Amino acid sequence: MSQKTVDVLIIGGGPGGYSAALYCARAGMKTLVVEKLSAGGQMVLAGTLDNYPGFDEGIDGFELGERMKKGAERFGAETVFEEAVSVDLSANPKRVTTNRGEYLARAVVIATGATHRELGLPEERRLVGRGVAYCATCDGARYKGRRVVVVGGGNSAVTDALTLSKICEHVTLVHRRDALSATQVYHAQIEKAGNITFIGASDVIAIEHDRKVTGVVIRSKETGETARIPCDGLFIAIGRRPVTELFAGQVEMDENGYIVAGETTETSVPGVFAVGDVRTKLARQVITAAADGAVAAKSVESYLRTL
Ligand code: NAP
Repeated sequence: MSQKTVDVLIIGGGPGGYSAALYCARAGMKTLVVEKLSAGGQMVLAGTLDNYPGFDEGIDGFELGERMKKGAERFGAETVFEEAVSVDLSANPKRVTTNRGEYLARAVVIATGATHRELGLPEERRLVGRGVAYCATCDGARYKGRRVVVVGGGNSAVTDALTLSKICEHVTLVHRRDALSATQVYHAQIEKAGNITFIGASDVIAIEHDRKVTGVVIRSKETGETARIPCDGLFIAIGRRPVTELFAGQVEMDENGYIVAGETTETSVPGVFAVGDVRTKLARQVITAAADGAVAAKSVESYLRTL
């Protein structure tokens, strides 16, 4: 097993991670990003981003991720595509073990982001890729001309429903409350789409399937009655959860599992910083993650001076 020592190791290669990498490398620190899949994090799933400034026609999330990686590499940051499997954050230097090697770092930046939340239905996990999906932009094309159900009532659910309405024959949007909480601008678009049916105050209680999804069963919260909706796809868009299992018991987290860190990105452990969607914050956006990365580099620099 290889062992390497760096000034700062960044776990996660999304916008927070690569912005931290850019600023750290540019400040002369030996910088390593550990990313398990591909640069960009959740941005990769977003399709076109219209709310990252500087791109007047929007930019593809995958492309922006690649560009952020290259921008950090220009100043010497390195990336290894490995999965972090354990960490010892109290050690000095800190120790990060991946599926391929072991790294020692004087400081660690946690940039592992957040991922989709599951409904928790029996068979849900087993049916992923066979009708159950969490990303309309990624998987929608598979359901061309088919009928799908989207679950959720926030911006993700309505934007997913709108995306799917352009591809699918019909979309049923099921929400547990009687009204959507999504931004007002989307409400009219949902009505205008012509092939989206909204069912409020209902829970999805079961997925029907043979080898693939064939329908869902919903139950009205008002009457308790159940109904079956035949469909080929179930898109679950009920919010996100932080990816913090790796750090359990080592850094302070809030009741939802987000790492407690303020504007300075400092966590409860000296020398450990948290950026982007993984930390407690008001707005989880690409631009706020990128901003965190820049601030984290300053905090890392100050911390390293104390060693
Ligand atoms: P969200 O705003 O937290 O909404 C989650 C939705 O899922 C809520 O309607 C919630 O219902 C429902 N839900 C949660 N747990 C559920 C469960 N177990 N069963 C059934 N329903 C459940 O999450 P989001 O829509 O993923 O959005 C996340 C963030 O990304 C937000 O800040 C959002 O504005 C942003 N975003 C923005 C855009 C855009 O601007 N175009 C697009 C997508 C996402 P309750 O209200 O009952 O809890």
